[in-house]
Amino acid sequence: MNGLWMLGRYRDHPVAVRDLGQMQGGQLVFQVLLTQEAVPGASAAVSDKERVKALDLKPGFLRVDPNAREVIYTHTPAFRAPKPEDVTRMLDGVVAIAAEGGPALGTMCEECHAAPGEVRVINDMPTQLCEADFARIGAASGMQMAAAGVAKPDYGRAIAGGLLGMFLGAALWAGIGIATERIFSLVAIAVAAIVGILLAKGAGRVTWPLIGVMAVFAILAVVLGDIIWIAALIASLGGGFDLGLAIQVYPLAIGEDSSFALSYFFALIGVFIIGRWMMGAKKAQTPRFEVVS
Ligand SMILES: [Zn+2]
Repeated sequence: MNGLWMLGRYRDHPVAVRDLGQMQGGQLVFQVLLTQEAVPGASAAVSDKERVKALDLKPGFLRVDPNAREVIYTHTPAFRAPKPEDVTRMLDGVVAIAAEGGPALGTMCEECHAAPGEVRVINDMPTQLCEADFARIGAASGMQMAAAGVAKPDYGRAIAGGLLGMFLGAALWAGIGIATERIFSLVAIAVAAIVGILLAKGAGRVTWPLIGVMAVFAILAVVLGDIIWIAALIASLGGGFDLGLAIQVYPLAIGEDSSFALSYFFALIGVFIIGRWMMGAKKAQTPRFEVVS
């Protein structure tokens, strides 16, 4: 879990100040929860650049999320982590923007406005819910997560899409190889991307096995692309386009020409980059209910 600078109420506004950690450049995210009524006024205040600058905030990094009903400010430290007084100054500014919209939420539950609520971060957003609403939203998320677990990917269509991607990727790899007589890591990334996208499209979602299948098909696409390339070379020497002969020549070609061996290395780079992208897509499609209080 990322560092939490502050979670609670500041001048009657529910706020969270979170440190996104080294991977995100030590960014600090300031979030102030608004009442529904305060959203338009706070949005207007955010678009008044002079007003934002007067509060010592950078206009490009301040926004209102109307759906989450929050003011969000992202601070990227230049050299070192900000001092506590800098954090307080920025928090003062963000809360001043929130206050332009209307009265603070105070202690009331953001959903029912009837019972007092507790400030918690749920899925990276500050919330203030009474116990009944917290339980209700938790139960709804649980059902969503259960439904997502039940939805099965279509592996048949995924494999069909992946095979199509493999042939398209091989054609791309061979075509650029024949045209330029060189190999490029960027093309290998494109090959892996074509395979990964068509696999995920066929399946309807990204799963761990599909990431493995992408790796195999992307490497096969590059191998097949090299074989087509060799067949084209043989043809250019007047031998006719013979894939069978190219497959026989392929092991020799790997030994003779280092660029064919380098193909595998580039294919692995493509697999690594697209694999990471698919892991991100897999995470984003999974409903979650993470609570920090
Ligand atoms: Zn409530």
